[in-house]
Amino acid sequence: MTEPLVPRMREFGETIFAEMSALATATGSINLGQGFPDEDGPKAMLDVAVEAIRSGGNQYPPGPGVPELREAVAEQRLERYGLSYDPMTEVYATVGATEGIAASVLALTGPGDEVIVFEPYYDSYAAVIALAGAVRKPVTLRPVEGRFTFDPDELRAAVGPRTKAILVNSPHNPAGTVFTRGELEAVAAVCRDRDLVAITDEVYEYLTFDGTEHIPLATLDGMRERTVSVSSAGKTFSATGWKTGWITAPARYVRAVQTVKQFLTYAVSAPYQRAAAYALANETAWVAELRASLQAKRDRLVAGLEAAGFTAYRPQGTYFVQADIRPLGFSDGLELARALPAKAGVVAIPTQVFYDHAEAGAHFVRFAFCKKDEVIDEAVERLRRLA
Ligand SMILES: *Cc1c(COP(=O)(O)O)cnc(C)c1O
Repeated sequence: MTEPLVPRMREFGETIFAEMSALATATGSINLGQGFPDEDGPKAMLDVAVEAIRSGGNQYPPGPGVPELREAVAEQRLERYGLSYDPMTEVYATVGATEGIAASVLALTGPGDEVIVFEPYYDSYAAVIALAGAVRKPVTLRPVEGRFTFDPDELRAAVGPRTKAILVNSPHNPAGTVFTRGELEAVAAVCRDRDLVAITDEVYEYLTFDGTEHIPLATLDGMRERTVSVSSAGKTFSATGWKTGWITAPARYVRAVQTVKQFLTYAVSAPYQRAAAYALANETAWVAELRASLQAKRDRLVAGLEAAGFTAYRPQGTYFVQADIRPLGFSDGLELARALPAKAGVVAIPTQVFYDHAEAGAHFVRFAFCKKDEVIDEAVERLRRLA
């Protein structure tokens, strides 16, 4: 039998999340692998979705998104970041950030084009770049003084005559870094000098800690005109199953992305768009509490991992901690992650699967802390058995 899958997708098997979550279920382990919260978002937001279903809001919404969501997103970008977008021509609803990124990559890059990504990268980036027939060019994030960052010279060196776009995720999953203005300025300079389009993944825009500021790349000089910004309700409002996201970009980019997106899914689930619009406009106080609670959970997990013998990197944002496994005598995170459920009853994600240069991430595993305190406590208790 010939392999039915097209060659360009053959390097992508089952995602690591499916493998590790199945292992968690099979072994009854605590799952600190996949990043989804174990508590729901704000009740009033859930009520808006229920009410939208009950009151007849169940047919195809407009392809670009319901007007109230587009207006709420435009209002949010303006109020929070001073970025002005026309809700009718410069905001577009997508099926989660995942589709926003996929449609943007498919619309803006093609066969042979190169796309810069920072590794470790979110797994869907590599797959959609391959679907587009484009080539990923990784720039490695490495720990420097307790925080993952990149070398601007390596970034500049990664750009060649075929480079078309750069994908920028900040706050960064899985490294936990929130790019500083200086780091973003290095990215912006490359985009301006080499005429690149930037696609930003800002799904953790609200989930930053210790007062760390999230700076959208589009706010830097000359960047609004060449940036497609992607975000979503999933992480901000603890509704990862809603898959309701959006892009903001200059109208000509939105038209390009629309051309692809309309044939992927046409529109986004109507009731969730209404609920996300409500939450963006009304639930910032709830999100502030979520942020404070996540910061405390981060500290709880970092302290527990350190007590268990790992070197833990305290993230500036997101749901995730990177842990160096070498102090415990291990060297291969993939091996350890596969053995951990049997050894300790805990599931983690081996970070090396998010690199092209796997050796750069071989000794890291990723733990999620968007879980109830008692779940984190039980997990670290179990991990202490490793020492
Ligand atoms: C969770 C996540 C996404 C996916 O967002 P959806 O809105 O669920 O599609 C995208 N990028 C990063 C970095 C994520 O962590």
